[in-house]
This record gives sequence, structure tokens and C-alpha cells, in this order.
Amino acid sequence: MSIKTPITIAYGDGIGPEIMQATLDILAAAHARLDIEVIEVGEKVYLQGQTSGIPDSAWASLKRTKVLLKGPITTPQGGGYKSLNVTLRKTLGLFANVRPCRAYAPYVATKFPNMDLVIIRENEEGTYSGIEHRGTDEVYQCLKLISRPGCERIVQYAFEYARKFNRKKVTCLSKDNIMKMTDGLFHKVFNEIAKDYPDIEHEHLIIDIGTALIAAQPERFDVIVTLNLYGDIISDVAAQIAGSVGLAGSANIGNHVAMFEAIHGSAPDIAGKNIANPSGLLNAAIQMLIHINQPDVASLIENAWLKALEDGLHTGDVYSKEYSKEKMGTKEFAQAVIARLGQKPTHFKPVEYKQGAYAKIECYGAPKEIHSNKELVGVDIFIDNPHDISAEELAKQILPVKGNLELIAISSRGLKIWPNSMIESPYLRHCCCRFQSTTDLKQLTAIKHADIIQLLENLNELGWDVVKTENLYTYDGELGFTLAQGQ
Ligand code: NAD
Repeated sequence: MSIKTPITIAYGDGIGPEIMQATLDILAAAHARLDIEVIEVGEKVYLQGQTSGIPDSAWASLKRTKVLLKGPITTPQGGGYKSLNVTLRKTLGLFANVRPCRAYAPYVATKFPNMDLVIIRENEEGTYSGIEHRGTDEVYQCLKLISRPGCERIVQYAFEYARKFNRKKVTCLSKDNIMKMTDGLFHKVFNEIAKDYPDIEHEHLIIDIGTALIAAQPERFDVIVTLNLYGDIISDVAAQIAGSVGLAGSANIGNHVAMFEAIHGSAPDIAGKNIANPSGLLNAAIQMLIHINQPDVASLIENAWLKALEDGLHTGDVYSKEYSKEKMGTKEFAQAVIARLGQKPTHFKPVEYKQGAYAKIECYGAPKEIHSNKELVGVDIFIDNPHDISAEELAKQILPVKGNLELIAISSRGLKIWPNSMIESPYLRHCCCRFQSTTDLKQLTAIKHADIIQLLENLNELGWDVVKTENLYTYDGELGFTLAQGQ
């Protein structure tokens, strides 16, 4: 008797229940070896007052099965409701978002019939940590935190994925020409890890030209690895130009739990009409079958689905006079796929996922520990300056109370405005005063936390509202901070 893999499913909202039922019917007909538990998440749970959108009982199921196949969720507007997807990703440590974007021409219209790429997006860090503050009446900030283990894990995952799925090249996209420390680390780690995969080609592109090339020549890409925000944006660009927004599935992978879903939303405009395309969720389910090591069932279903597509059996969203034979409802399309189980496509290349070859890819980042010589050498003190006091006046007030430290520069939104600034009318509402042990960056010596505390007390006595401080460190003598433009 074959062993069934426990999985959790959530029907979701809007078209969720219809496309999930269609997907489950296909999985059952293909004899997927699944032991299914159903949980309730989403709109109903939100409206019962649970702002996370997920009840405690659902966590218990996820802890048990470690696999979730999820229908799309409607997030109610306003009311402090938290994105369920972000909650799931963070709580379950789903560090990699894997989104294959391929063309299904000519059956699905696209300008790029040969496009076939996979985007692997870092899923837990960067600006999506959601650490935001309002420092003054006018200035808001979003903190972008990037960790070395976070970079190592996602980059390693991308190369492992490329190897296991027989892909030839991994492209890293970052903006390290501007964000030299955060994106710079991502790029650096990419170069380090690429050395462990000599069989796979690697390249790096700046995210702006990279995005332009995805839009203009997507065929040149194979696997793409990138940071959270960029990955979010390019995933939609790629899915859109592939023509497969309604067809694509995605996986959110962690070392212990994985979640699979369609990339589209709950489409409330067509809910309950039996016209939604179940293909996005079905493709997510195929990724799930590969993940739980049922590649035989995954291949069976994907080949039947490709055959239905090339037989011109299409739901309304992909229907065209030229390439469709019949416009089908959700249920009827599922039946058409079921009727083709065991058949192979002839226009598309049949798939054949291999037993064991695609089982879980676990990535923990390289085990190396870093212990550098870390020295406190200064501090950035950010000040709310509601009356737009000039930088010269600000410096005049601060210089007598600077204690053991030197006032090196005053900057505003990263641009130096004191000393010797040519800026005619600088933005003054949010000023950063940089203090160091000495003006010469090559001669920096250690300062004490007590020096900073004394300085803060002095500034407080002068009546300044310090909205934030950032300590300045060197690591083995290397600066752990960037200079202001013009500094
Ligand atoms: P959407 O993807 O639901 O719909 C966009 C358009 O595509 C609509 O015209 C819709 O009818 C169509 N469409 C989507 N899926 C389709 C399918 N399977 N078959 C045929 N047509 C399909 O995006 P939206 O309207 O911006 O969002 C609706 C709701 O979904 C919102 O509450 C949003 O927060 C939520 N959402 C959830 C997820 C998720 O759970 N992962 C993702 C995106 C949006």
C-alpha cells in the first residue's frame, strides 16, 4: 500500500473554493497520495475579529503536515488586517519564493513564445520586514535589513534549484551601485557561492537594466535570484509578458514548511460563476507534488494539462478564436484534464520529473561564523528641526557641547549640507549630525557609549528632539557605514 503524504489545504476566498475543488478533483483522479486536512483562513477569519486571518487551530495543522496548498485570500480593506501571506511567510520561515514564468504559445498570447524562466525571490528580509517609522511631521523611513545568512540561504537555494532542475544559468539582480552595503552584500555572497557551482553559469545585472531586459528579451534568462522587493516587482513583469498571470503557480519554501498557491488573487468579480481558470492553483499543486516527492503524479498531471491546452480546451481568460476549440467552465476544464491523464502533449515538450531528484532542497546558509574586530568610532544623530534652523546655526549650537567627539558633517536625506555646502536651499526638517572620534577616516579610534550618552544629554538640554541614532562601527578597520553624498 502506498504511503500518503499529509498536506493542509485552505480553500480561500472568492474563486478559491471553485479552483481548489477543480484542483482536488484532478489530484484525486491522478491518484496523488495525499492525506488532506482542511483549514479555514482568510476573509471569514478576518471578519470574526482575528486580524492575522489565521486561527490558532490552523497553525497546529501546518505544524503537523508542513505543507500548505492555499487558495487565494481576500484581505478586507482597512481595519488593521495583516496580510496573511506575509504572516505565513515570516512565521513559517518561508525564505524562498519560487515563481516559474513560462510561455504557452500559441495557445496563450505572448510576444515571447520561448520564454521559460524561474524567479527566486528572497522572502523574509529587505524592505518587507515592515519596520517603518515617522521621524518628523514630514519624514518617514523604512528600514531595509539584510543579513549574511539570509543572502547565503537564498543564493544557495537558487543554485541548488538550478542544478536539480537542470537549469544552466543563475542571474543575480541587485542595486549595489547605489546600496553598496545591503545590496552589495547580496552581490558579494552571490559571487562567493557561485564558485561552489562551476557547472552553472552565473552573471550579475543591476536591477533596472535587468528588469528592462526581462521585459524586452526574457528568453535570455534562466534562473533569477534577487532581493524581496525587486523579486516582487519582476515576478509580475515576467508573469504578465509570459501571458500566464492566470496560469502560474508559486511556491514559498522554508526548510521545514512549504506553501503553494496560484499567483493571482481571489477575483471576486467572477466568483461563483464557474468561469475561473484553475490552472494557476493546479500548477502550484504540481510544484507541491514535486516537493513532496511524488514526481510521477506531477508529470502525469502536467502532461494532461498541457495536452488539454494544446487541444484548444480553454477557460474564458485564455480563450481565442484562433487557437481555442471550446470555451469551458472551471469544472468542465478540470474534467478535460482528467480525461487526458496518461496522455502526452505533442506541441509542448512532455515533462518527466524524476523520482527523488526533486525532493526538498534545504538551505541553511554556509555554516561559517564571522567574528570581526568591531569598534565603535562614532554616531549619527538624527534631529527633528521643525523651524528649519540652518545647518550653520545648528553646527554653531552643537560645537560647544560635542564633548570628546568631533562634529564631522550634517546631512539631510543622505546629502551633506554642512560644512562647505553649495546647496542653496537644503531640506532641513530632518538633519543627521555625524560625530566621530576624529575627522580623518583613516585615523578613527574607538569611542565609548558614554560619550554618545553625554552628547545626547547635551543635545536634550539644548532642546533638540533626537529622533534616532545610528552607531558608527568599523569591522577589522573597514567602515561599517556609508558617507553622505558630498562628504
Ligand atoms: P485578482 O488576481 O484577483 O484579479 C485580477 C483580474 O484577473 C480580475 O479581472 C480577475 O477576474 C482575473 N482573474 C484572476 N484570477 C483568475 C482566474 N483564475 N481565472 C480567470 N480570471 C482570473 O487581483 P485583484 O482583483 O487585485 O485582487 C482581488 C483580491 O485578491 C484582493 O482582496 C487581493 O488582496 C487578493 N489577492 C490575494 C492574493 C493571494 O492570496 N495570494 C494575491 C493577490 C491578490
